[in-house]
Amino acid sequence: MLNRTIKLTKKFNFDMAHALFGHDGQCKNIHGHTYQLEITIEGIPQEHRGATNDGMVIDFSVLKSLVNDLIVNKLDHALVLNKNAPYANNVEFLQQFEKVNLLPFQPTCENLVLYMVDILIDKFDPDINLYSVRLDETPTSYAVWINDK
Ligand SMILES: [Zn+2]
Repeated sequence: MLNRTIKLTKKFNFDMAHALFGHDGQCKNIHGHTYQLEITIEGIPQEHRGATNDGMVIDFSVLKSLVNDLIVNKLDHALVLNKNAPYANNVEFLQQFEKVNLLPFQPTCENLVLYMVDILIDKFDPDINLYSVRLDETPTSYAVWINDK
């Protein structure tokens, strides 16, 4: 029998500043990227005759809202720092910005992917799996997590 599983991807863009504490190079400075994010889920298109989601695994707009609410809106135009870095304690400096995210890890592309996986992994219906999270930091660099079970 034909495997009817479909992988469904939604793409996002956001601008984010970060600094890599202790990095031996340019990335120790506060700098920014236009990130591209691709969230892929997998499932079997369901028949819901007459319903708005007939023939879908998940409505793209539902996936879009979920990822925007949980991830993109928190990171877009934010300054993201490793909370273990000394400058993360400089409240006087940081409180001048509206969007600062102190994360308990080095905000590399790899760690940001794992952070997103942690957030999203249990947010879908039981018949839908998070399949992959791909984060492009530059046009030539990306990190990807794939759920190969
Ligand atoms: Zn960077």
